Amino acid sequence: EHDDGKGRDKGPHRVGQVKEVTSLANPIVKDIKALAQKKTRDETKTFIAEGLKLVIDALELGWTIRTLVYAKAAKGKPQVEQVAARTFAKGGLVLEVSEKVMSAITRRDNPQMVIGVFEQRYRPLKELRPGKGETYVALDRVRDPGNLGTIIRTADAAGASGVILVGDTTDPFSMETVRATMGSVFAVPVTKTSLADFLRWKKEAGVQVVATHLAGAVDYRTIDYARKPVVLLMGNEQAGIPDELAREADALARIPQAGRADSLNLAIATGIMLFEARRHLLSLEASE
Ligand code: SAM
Repeated sequence: EHDDGKGRDKGPHRVGQVKEVTSLANPIVKDIKALAQKKTRDETKTFIAEGLKLVIDALELGWTIRTLVYAKAAKGKPQVEQVAARTFAKGGLVLEVSEKVMSAITRRDNPQMVIGVFEQRYRPLKELRPGKGETYVALDRVRDPGNLGTIIRTADAAGASGVILVGDTTDPFSMETVRATMGSVFAVPVTKTSLADFLRWKKEAGVQVVATHLAGAVDYRTIDYARKPVVLLMGNEQAGIPDELAREADALARIPQAGRADSLNLAIATGIMLFEARRHLLSLEASE
């Protein structure tokens, strides 16, 4: 059957058909489950986002959905129906599954009612042209998915323009990271680059790189963050920033500490730095 020319849909190839799945052996379910592995995410360039709110936010921000999966209990809910219609309109697949299948996909006992499989997106480094009032976070070999997710969420909240992953880092599209971002993964552009390319970019980007370092640094509150766009460079959880990299920075900053701990958690330190670097740009009035 063909389109009748009046924009009305006819036939199953035009109107999406919800597939009901209860078997864990179903090949589509197997493919989605496999997205728990980085290798599969890399190959398919897709990832899983859990929760109706996240899926709605992602669609609103223009991310491409490949598959929508919802639990039987969510059937008929107006928002779920709307999201399903939008998925079909984009040529995606919609699955209605048993709770058992939902648990298997998300590896959770109390899974969300809705998940979406989305296409990954990175912003190429060469597209980053920081302007006045912009702040980026660059993470040197970040390892912990929870830290990365928390940093993406905090970067979003502080109004940063992007997160740059330098060197070998944990995957921003792992389920754990995406969960920790609480949806901010869809709002904050993420860039992936090598150390060499980052250093080359930095020379031409007209930015000031403020590296957090525990040695040879000044109090982070004494730095002028308004002078130029800022790139806050944060170190690996175990090793911190190597001296060779610290030498390339325009300023070395340190958050003074009291007490027994010799350093702060990476995500906490990033949060403190971000809100200091953007202090002059943030106000309660502006966010209302
Ligand atoms: N042993 C590492 C070192 O000597 O650098 C500690 C790494 S720390 C857990 C991870 C990152 O958090 C650091 O590289 C830095 O970016 C940031 N950080 C932690 N405490 C900080 C502080 N007091 N001031 C500035 N940055 C800090």
